[in-house]
Amino acid sequence: MCQSCTNNLLDNLLKHGHLIDTGVDGLYGRSGVFEDVVMRFDALITRWGGGDGPEVMRFPPAMNRKHFEKSGYLKSFPHLAGTVHSFAGDEKAHANLLEQVGNGEDWTLGQKSTEVVLTPAACYVLYPVVAKRGPLSGEGALFDLQSYCFRHEPSKEPTRMQLFRMREYVRFGTPDQVTEFRATWLERGQKMMAELGVPFDLDVANDPFFGRAGRMLANNQRDQRLKFELLIPINSVESPTACLSFNYHQDHFGSTWGIQTPDGEVAHTACVGFGMERVALALFKHHGMNVENWPAAIRKVLWS
Ligand code: ATP
Ligand code: ZN
Repeated sequence: MCQSCTNNLLDNLLKHGHLIDTGVDGLYGRSGVFEDVVMRFDALITRWGGGDGPEVMRFPPAMNRKHFEKSGYLKSFPHLAGTVHSFAGDEKAHANLLEQVGNGEDWTLGQKSTEVVLTPAACYVLYPVVAKRGPLSGEGALFDLQSYCFRHEPSKEPTRMQLFRMREYVRFGTPDQVTEFRATWLERGQKMMAELGVPFDLDVANDPFFGRAGRMLANNQRDQRLKFELLIPINSVESPTACLSFNYHQDHFGSTWGIQTPDGEVAHTACVGFGMERVALALFKHHGMNVENWPAAIRKVLWS
């Protein structure tokens, strides 16, 4: 550990300039070095997954509001969603708005929703795109995505950001094709992270579903082992952080979007998600704030 570092990870990251304060919890700028680490990890993911020949797609960090509504996100995670609103008034309304801003009053009440919302997970944008193409081929389909994602979960823990990047591989096909994909990534993900010299555990997990009904959904997800997470101690050893997740959605998105296999069955889907900032933070936590001092073996994996 460097001499000026303390036990508080966020303080250390800010002090070393890896994260840049904006005055909002969970909303940070990133240094060039931090971005380099993220880019190197991105390339490492491609080294492990690119050979499967995924179709690469990149979207801006917002999505069609209608698609978002249809996805069911608001049913499960209303508390995390971020919607984009905009001014749509006349000159009188504008004068009113400026007066409210000047008086420190709430000026947002007159804002109208736009046709876009912030992307909550990289794969949400994909399902309507695949649905529009018609039935899958016999091999199913595989996609490579990366997007900034928004979740309204402000926190002092640097690992819980409001805007962060998620890389994903998303598989569509029969239940066999999709579960094989997830099993492959459960193995690969562990081998990949072992190369980076960080301690980790794999565990069954659940999504943070909203409300009382959500508790049942969460229990059900755990009982059926639909979500696994690769957890790394970053903020604390007691509550390690999910850095990779491995999700089997069964026919949830296939039936929501009417995606079919060539036999006319509802397509199943699965995804593996990589938290880009969380993995970078894990590396800074375990190998130190100065990347030049990281162990040679780790530097070789990332910078070769
Ligand atoms: P958690 O249980 O920590 O809230 P999650 O179950 O919500 O995570 P997923 O929805 O599976 O996470 O998201 C995929 C990946 O995105 C996670 O494995 C994690 O690495 C990353 N991620 C999720 N939420 C955040 C966040 N608030 N800040 C940074 N990275 C995140
Ligand atoms: Zn989360």
